[in-house]
Amino acid sequence: MDILPYPHPALHWKSKPIQEINADLRKVVAEMFELMYAANGIGLAANQVGLPYRLFILNLSSDPALKDEEIVFINPDILKRKGSTEGEEGCLSFPGMYGPVKRAAKIEIEAFDLDGSCFEYSLDDLAARAVQHESDHLDGVLFIDRLSETARRELDPVINDFESQFRRWQAEGRFASDDVIKSQLLQLEPKPPAASNG
Ligand code: ZN
Repeated sequence: MDILPYPHPALHWKSKPIQEINADLRKVVAEMFELMYAANGIGLAANQVGLPYRLFILNLSSDPALKDEEIVFINPDILKRKGSTEGEEGCLSFPGMYGPVKRAAKIEIEAFDLDGSCFEYSLDDLAARAVQHESDHLDGVLFIDRLSETARRELDPVINDFESQFRRWQAEGRFASDDVIKSQLLQLEPKPPAASNG
């Protein structure tokens, strides 16, 4: 498992709800935390490691020693958004690139944890911003899609560099073609349990 760079097709994928919380999923989450800490991140979505699951993780301290700060969001749903605030964002799929993004100032979010319990948070500041950024990932939306026109124009050359680099890697075989990756993503989508007869 690796953190995938833009424009890997998984980053544009609308992820599917997780059907079962099991040992495999716990292993995925543990690996995601390791990758996130290694990259000094505060949040990571399953899309970013090539898994089309509605799941993201957060540790706003970015400190692996602070396990209490770790939060796992499974099948999250933002219930309310209030106000608006602009702030600088980055993304582990765009290493080294930052830009200003407008987000709701306060949100209420509901999700499930790794024990399958439903929880609800009211968040503001960095937590609200991070959760909105990560929730967007699950819908295949990236922070570059939310930049102002001016900021987007300024960052376009950097975004183009990410694009060229990824196409080179595909040509070299380090990544499969978009079509192959898309069919793999379809295979990986969580499937609802088959309906019973009768
Ligand atoms: Zn991101």
